[in-house]
Amino acid sequence: MLDSLVWDAELIRRHDQPGPRYTSYPTAVQFDNQVSAFDLLHALRDSRKALRPLSLYVHLPFCAHICYYCACNKVITKDRGRAQAYLQRLEQEIQLIACHLDPRQSVQQLHLGGGTPTFLNHDELRQLMASLRSHFNLRLDDGGDYGIEIDPREADWSTMGLLRELGFNRVSIGVQDFDPLVQRAVNRLQTLDETRAIIEAARTLQFRSVNLDLIYGLPRQTVDSFARTVDEVIQLQPDRLSVFNYAHLPERFPPQRRIDHVELPPPGVKLQMLKGTIEQLTAAGYRYIGMDHFALPDDDLAIAQEEGQLQRNFQGYTTHGHCDLIGLGVSAISQVGDLYSQNSSDVNEYQNTLAGAQLATARGLNCDADDRLRRAVIQQLICHFELDFAAFEQRFGIEFRGYFAAIWAQLQQMQGDGLIELDAVGIRVKPVGRLLVRSVCMLFDAHLAPQDQQRFSRVI
Ligand code: SF4
Repeated sequence: MLDSLVWDAELIRRHDQPGPRYTSYPTAVQFDNQVSAFDLLHALRDSRKALRPLSLYVHLPFCAHICYYCACNKVITKDRGRAQAYLQRLEQEIQLIACHLDPRQSVQQLHLGGGTPTFLNHDELRQLMASLRSHFNLRLDDGGDYGIEIDPREADWSTMGLLRELGFNRVSIGVQDFDPLVQRAVNRLQTLDETRAIIEAARTLQFRSVNLDLIYGLPRQTVDSFARTVDEVIQLQPDRLSVFNYAHLPERFPPQRRIDHVELPPPGVKLQMLKGTIEQLTAAGYRYIGMDHFALPDDDLAIAQEEGQLQRNFQGYTTHGHCDLIGLGVSAISQVGDLYSQNSSDVNEYQNTLAGAQLATARGLNCDADDRLRRAVIQQLICHFELDFAAFEQRFGIEFRGYFAAIWAQLQQMQGDGLIELDAVGIRVKPVGRLLVRSVCMLFDAHLAPQDQQRFSRVI
């Protein structure tokens, strides 16, 4: 069974450390400014020749209010007029990218993230989708996975109706915590009724999937208060749940300086919250997919994992890892073939560059053969918790143990600790090691430097 997890506090204490979430390998920390728009155009040409299917990500950075825990790339403004200037540049980017692709390349996945995508008014949402549809081959049959992030404070039934009409069939709803004390401490006041109304709208309008986001480790949370939030969430029956560990890094994310660190739950309490959450969700029938993610057994992610098809990319766990990912908007990341490229993270720079009819590529990385191998190893472990040496030897023309000789002693140590099983056939992450799969993956990360590690949240 893929959904079995076993809790071992001592093992967690020993192996919990800061580490990447591996939505890519190498991670974005390794990107540098040697990659330019020229590299992206080159990669798009290869994508076009191979007629690879596409996954589009569109970043809409505006938010009307600041959440103090936020680590996203966003622009806080009450000026709704700012969206229009941004949309104009986004449309230019859409044109500049799409003209290098083939109209036969079907868009199998679309995701609007932010920021708050519904900061855009209805006309602007229509305008954006019309632009995407006129330049890319978006599906008309509702068969793609077309999702959008929803802040229930910035959406209502009519918004949901519009989104469904525009072709969206998945929603991801930010909740974090329902406790009013916690909500006040993070400046995100959002009632259970507001959230329930959006979920009811999604169900009535036949959105295929509803995802909710929670965060544990926020100020003023207690084990009991978070358990109440999880209970309320279970009543709402989302298809998927993301339960993130709050990483307090105020020197990197200025909004977090508004959080009083003495109100943060200590690490031992956070561990109890996570343990309680896993017990509650498992008892309610949810499966642990992997890092931070749970899903009902009939959800696509759970089915893909069962069938060995699950993958991971910048959008998290996905069934569309075979697509080239095109990131549009400020700070958006593309993954086209072996190239990662990221747009400027500064909204003015992004807009000014596009105003000059140039793509806003600022940094990136071209994977070499070693990166491709390690990426596949990490993907395999993080999505399926087991790895067959023979399959990798055949696919990459290596002798697995010889290639990774430098880390074999550490793998054996993890076996001795009971985290993994290691034999002549392969590696299997044991149920007790699944929460720590990031630590196993980190052994295969050739780029990870101790100073970089502090930029990541802890494994748990
Ligand atoms: S958490 Fe989301 S809604 Fe809140 S400020 Fe950040 S991007 Fe905006």
